[in-house]
Formats: sequence, structure tokens, C-alpha cells
Amino acid sequence: MKKYLLLFFVGALVFAQNKTLDQKVDSVLALMTLDEKVGQLVQYSAGWDTGTRTRKPKEGHEELIRRGQIGSFLNIVGAEQTKRLQRIAVEESRLGIPLIFGLDVIHGYKTTFPIPLAEACSWNPELVELSARMQAIETSAAGVHWTFSPMVDIARDPRWGRIMEGSGEDPYLGAVMAAARVKGYQGKSLSDINTILACAKHFAGYGAVEGGKDYNTVDISERTLREIHLPPFKAAVDAGVGSLMSAFNEIGGIPSSANKLLLTQILRNEWHSDAFVLTDWNTIGEFMIHGIAHDLKEATKIAIEASVDMDMESNGYHYHLAELVKEGKVDVKYIDNAVRRILKAKFRLGLFDDPYRYSDPAREAEVTLNDDLRKAAKQVALESVVLLKNENNLLPLDKNIKSIALIGELAASKDDPLGPWSQQGTPETVVSILEGLKNKVGDRIKINYAEGCKVRGNDKSGFAEAVEAVKKSDVAIVVIGETRDMSGEAHSRATLDLPGVQEELIKEINKTGKPVIAILMNGRPLTINWVSENIPAIIESWYLGCEHGSAVADILFGDFVPSGKLTVTFPKGVGQIPLYYNHKNSGRPYNPENPRYTSYYIDFSLEPLYPFGYGLSYTTFEYSNLKLKTDKVRAGETVRFSVDVANTGKYEAQEIVQVYVRDLVGSVTRPVKELKDFRKINLKPGETKTVEFELPVERLKFFDINMNYVLEPGKFKLMVGPNSKDLMETEFELIQ
Ligand code: BGC
Repeated sequence: MKKYLLLFFVGALVFAQNKTLDQKVDSVLALMTLDEKVGQLVQYSAGWDTGTRTRKPKEGHEELIRRGQIGSFLNIVGAEQTKRLQRIAVEESRLGIPLIFGLDVIHGYKTTFPIPLAEACSWNPELVELSARMQAIETSAAGVHWTFSPMVDIARDPRWGRIMEGSGEDPYLGAVMAAARVKGYQGKSLSDINTILACAKHFAGYGAVEGGKDYNTVDISERTLREIHLPPFKAAVDAGVGSLMSAFNEIGGIPSSANKLLLTQILRNEWHSDAFVLTDWNTIGEFMIHGIAHDLKEATKIAIEASVDMDMESNGYHYHLAELVKEGKVDVKYIDNAVRRILKAKFRLGLFDDPYRYSDPAREAEVTLNDDLRKAAKQVALESVVLLKNENNLLPLDKNIKSIALIGELAASKDDPLGPWSQQGTPETVVSILEGLKNKVGDRIKINYAEGCKVRGNDKSGFAEAVEAVKKSDVAIVVIGETRDMSGEAHSRATLDLPGVQEELIKEINKTGKPVIAILMNGRPLTINWVSENIPAIIESWYLGCEHGSAVADILFGDFVPSGKLTVTFPKGVGQIPLYYNHKNSGRPYNPENPRYTSYYIDFSLEPLYPFGYGLSYTTFEYSNLKLKTDKVRAGETVRFSVDVANTGKYEAQEIVQVYVRDLVGSVTRPVKELKDFRKINLKPGETKTVEFELPVERLKFFDINMNYVLEPGKFKLMVGPNSKDLMETEFELIQ
């Protein structure tokens, strides 16, 4: 009876119409005991039930919900199960505060979309937003309120396994994609039932781990942190992201989850964000291993005082936070602020209005894996593909050919196209490349499939069969790359070669003299130098999700003209890493005339295999007439210019027009070029478009010699073209 009175009281406080969100939050906070406050800051993962093969709360956790000592779960899914647990929180705990359920929906829930790196290669923020929107629709129907995505870490090292999870190496493109994904997940308003809270991760610098080794040390300057790694986070915050995840790595000696510069100074004081911060898995516990705390209690104090709001799985907050307050070692204001931020998110999601709104089995049944989702997944997949080479217009394939040899373990795989971090996607949902081709050509073209070899391992016994299949076919398509478990978290590589004997296989196939097309399926740039030099046509397909095979088949036959461009540099060798387009000049840049004492390798090329922004089409484009409207601009204005792009080939196609800028003289050194804008356009054969740009001068700001974010007057080089290498240029001046 007493409990219902109290619930009624909370209800009355919360729903009073004329209250602001802050007042509603404070009215709940005022009722909470210290233990209940701490409970809101605790997140635990589901355990695995081997009997039913489902995830469910671990032993004792349901009782903790009843006591108000858990505020959130990760990895619990399904309308029925989330409803059952929510009921315990709402009806059996003293204050009835709803739980928030989080999950890693990185590129889809049950319907798998392309990996984020692939999606970024579309250079199409509307499409990327659509992808996140569709993922949110499916995820929210499974009772889940929150995704630990987007991963917005900038990565300049392809050895790092998690490069597949972000948008690549560029801060501007990364920022555009981060905002698009946040908008997609969170929709127009988080109070809409088919939206989910987004989480920008991993804050910060995680993509800069030394040697590309996961979780490793990060030691970068504050300037590089702010100019390269933080812009996508800032863009996510500006787009209203509801939460951020603090990273595993240390940065300059301070673990990210203990880092006041990041979590307090930058996030709260400079960006004025009220998004709540969740740690990555057990990062508070790892403070002891990093060696900044003697024990979990000390680690807990460091985390809460750094402005970490929610503890994922370390137990630190659960066991030590209340005690630290009672002993006078932690000011309760830190806890109150953290609770406020988390309650705010729960309010925004509408959970105080109707805690069961996401847990509707009928909606779940209707939405999960439906046709709209698959349709969107295919659309995104098509634009994610990058054509790397197409000698003599080998592609698209002639529809009148009689037979195709399809070779490679990956060609028939229904598992690998799911990629790393596939949430609940299953092989049955996937169209393999083999199936995609068969669906496309029916009985008209004979497909001779042979595995040839496994991706990993040294067994060449299947080579002969593969060569035979090629000999009796008009053309060979060889699918090579990495299995999906070769990238992702804790899957860094020290080499970037094709694993196993795949290169030897494609060499054997090439000896047949038949035309050969290589399709790459992989989660990172690979040093495919031999393939690049010797195979006439190469398609980078990444991991495209459930519609992988149908998208690739459309592209092979020209039913869709490839338009993707790389958002990461492909190196020729691991020794070149880090190799990225927006580097600085040394005082002695490479001079091919007289290389002695310049920046170069005595034993290796300096050139990338494929530069940032690179990608071909079945048609050709010509750029001309780069024209500035005025060559002088002031703060607050835009740099207005135009360029003519002509489609000089035979196919209607999309082109990504890229704009780079170089600040010629600054108070500090500036990169040799930086992407500042881009436009994806569509051109019919023979058509020319004048593409107009208005580049806000604001985008030329950088951190000056005193670390102030300013515009410095002076001359800038403006470069426009189809990739970061082949550029036309002109100059403009920023005047005071
Ligand atoms: C990963 C995070 C992820 C978390 C929860 C961690 O190991 O680094 O990106 O969100 O696990 O699954």
C-alpha cells in the first residue's frame, strides 16, 4: 500500500504538465535514496542461458532491479523479455524508475546492413541516415532503447581491427557521417516509439592506438586530438546525441574514462553537452591494470569525479560509490549530476510516460526482418561498393556470356557477408555472392563454382578444380579477402596481405588467360599489390550484410553503376603505416630529383596503393573550369566557387566531387590538404553539370599556436577533383 502511494506521488510530480524536463528530473531525484541514485548509474550485461540459448539476467540481478540497484542492462533483447524485466523495475521497486536497455547495434539488429566503413564509402549522408533510421525501427521493436553506436573513431592504421566499425581516416567526413547516424537512430524526436538513443564512441582517441594493436596506448598531442579525433564527437553532440562511451585506451598517460580534459573540460564545459557518459566494458576496473588506482574503490572515485555517469560491468559503482559518499570521500553532487543526465535520457525516451512502449510483441513480429528493411539494406549496399580497377571496360559483364566461373570460399559464404559486429543477423538471412549471381542470371548463364582454397590455411588441393572451372567458363570471378572474424574488436593484424594461399590461387587462375575479376570482401585496406597490378578488374565489396550477393550481382551486370569512394588510404606495405592523405609536410619533403636527406624510404615506395577518396565508375568524368566567384573572403562569409563535371562515358552514373583546402602559412603547421566539402551528383551520358559550392569560412578554423580555435587570415589553396590525388587547384585569400 505504502509503495503505491509513493508511486502515485512520483507520477504526480513527473507528469505535472507545466514542469520543464529539468524540474521533472529533479522531482524524481528528490525522492531517491543514495543507494537508489547509485543504482541508476549501474549497468550489467545479460548472462547466457545455455539451455534456452538466450541471454537473460545473471543470478541475483532481478533482485537488484527490485531494490532499485540496476538502472540499465546491455545485451537483453526481445519484447517479451524486456517487458518482464521492466515490470519488475516499475512495479516492484520502491520508486518504479524504468530500466534502459542498451545493445551494440553497429550495422543492424537482425537485418544486417553494410559495415560502417563500407557505408561511409557511399559519401551519402542521407543514405547513411536512412540506414541508421531503419536499424532503429527494427531494434526499438525488440524492446531495446539504446544502441552503442555510432562508433566515430578516426582510424589511420588499417592494422587496427576496429577500422571497419568507423567511417575511415578523415575528420570532416567522419563528422558528417557521425551526425547522419545520430539523426537516423534518434529520429525527429526520441519520444517517437521507433527511435533509439545513440551513443558516440569511443571517447576518445581509440583509433590512434599504437601499432594498431587494440586497446593499446595512445599518445597524441592535444592538437591532433582536437583536430583529427574529436570533430566527429563534436558533430554527434551537435546533432543531439544522447550518450557517449568513454574509451578503453589511455591518452597521454590518463585512461579516457578517468580523463577530466575529455569528460569534464571538453564535453561539459566547452561543448555544453548533457549527454550521459557510459564507460566501455569494465574500464573502471582496468584503472588498476593501467596502474592509476590501487583498488576498485579508488578507481571508482577517479571515474565519478571525472564525470563518468554509468559504469558498464566493473562493479565499482555498485560496490563502492555509496560508501565513498558516506565516508566523505566523494561529493554527492557528482552522483546527483550523473543521475540527472541518465534520468533525462529516460524521460526523453518517453519511458516515464509508458515504460512498456518499446516492448510490444505484435510490433516486434511485424517489423523484424521485414521487406522494407531488406530493401534499404540493398540500397545502402549498392552505394557502399568501390570499383578499384576496370581495365578495358571488362565490367560490367556482357549479359550474353554463356558461363561464369565463380571461385573462392567467400563467394559461397552466407556467414562472412554479415561482417564483424553483426548483432543478431544469421546466415539464413544472407544472400551470398553465389546466390546473388544465380538469382540474377537464372538458367541463362551457367555458374561454375569452385572453392579453390579456404581464406586461411595452406591447402592448395582445390586449385586444380578451380582452374578447370575457369577453363570451361567465359570469365572468372574470384572472391578473396578476409573472413569476418579477422577484423573487429581485438582482431588487429600485423600484416595486411591476403591471408592463406588466396594470392597463389588467383595467380593460377590468371594463367588460364581468361578475363579475371577480383571481388574483395574484407574489413580493412589490404596490401593487394600483385592483384592490383595484374588483375584487370577489382571490386571492393567490404561486408555488405544480408543483401551482399544481390548488390554485387547488380554491379557486375551494370544494373547499378558503382559510385563508392574509399574513405581510407590503401597502403602498399605495412611499413608505410601510418599513411593518410591529410598529413603534414616535413621540412624536407620527398624530392624525387634529389631524394638524399628528404622524407622517404630507401627501400619502399611512398605512394599509396589507392588514395583516400579514390573510386571508379563504369563511365568516365571530366573536371574543368574551376572558378572562384571571388578570390577574397572574410570571416562569416562563404568561399563561393564552381566546377564543371562532365559525364564522358556511356552510363548514367553518380560522381562524388571532393573539395580540399590547404592553408599555405599558419601560426602552426597545417596539413598538405584537408577535405572540407563534397557533393554526390548524378550525370547522364554526355551531360555536364556546373557544381556550385559555398564553403563556410568557419571550416577553415584550426587550433592556433595558443590553442585557440581561430581563423587566421592568409592565402589558401583550393583543390577540387574526383579523389585526394587528382585535383585541379586555385587560390583564395582570407582577409580581415
Ligand atoms: C566494446 C564496445 C561495446 C561494448 C559492449 C566493448 O568491448 O569496446 O564498443 O559497446 O563492449 O558490448
